[in-house]
Amino acid sequence: MTPAHIESFFATLKAANPQPETELEFTNVFELLAAVLLSAQATDVSVNKASRALFAAAPTPAKMLALEVEGVERHIKTIGLYRTKARHLIETCRILVEQHGGQVPAQREALEALPGVGRKTANVVLNVAFGEPTMAVDTHIFRVSNRTGLAPGKNPLEVEQKLLRRVPEAYRVDAHHWLILHGRYVCQARLPRCAACQVRAWCDFEPKSAAV
Ligand code: SF4
Repeated sequence: MTPAHIESFFATLKAANPQPETELEFTNVFELLAAVLLSAQATDVSVNKASRALFAAAPTPAKMLALEVEGVERHIKTIGLYRTKARHLIETCRILVEQHGGQVPAQREALEALPGVGRKTANVVLNVAFGEPTMAVDTHIFRVSNRTGLAPGKNPLEVEQKLLRRVPEAYRVDAHHWLILHGRYVCQARLPRCAACQVRAWCDFEPKSAAV
């Protein structure tokens, strides 16, 4: 994709959805962090189903800590890897309470030091909660970036770094939302819906599918 194509690609996605948002449900920064932590290898829909009752019972790190691992497990049993995630969430809450005054830190290094929080989760929190122009490369963004020619790369970090270089500044904060939603609903893994795709004119993928 040429720079002009990339500009048109994002201008089109923006026109269709000027204020894209994550589909995870949360009411504060801590809940956002917890929801993203729970969403590894799980759908946002499944996380939302479980997190509504969990966050109602424990909307802060201190209250989550009081539930203990078993209490968290009871709420998130329907999510994959729930035992590991419950343990990570409780350990993360302990660090937030003991080292960060019960707040979610706004620095990448401090976020990535939390159990269960990797680069992708930190990128989501830095972007959604703190407005940083990060690219949280998940399976959808990885696929769309490679398939379209927007930011081809062999691994998520390579794609992330290329996106940061190639996405025009005006679109950088919201870009990862547009790409996730585009991958989830249009440029799908098994059969991209090219015939219904608004950005097909700027996409390098060939041959385009006839799926709508
Ligand atoms: S034209 Fe097809 S391959 Fe290209 S972005 Fe759209 S859905 Fe994906």
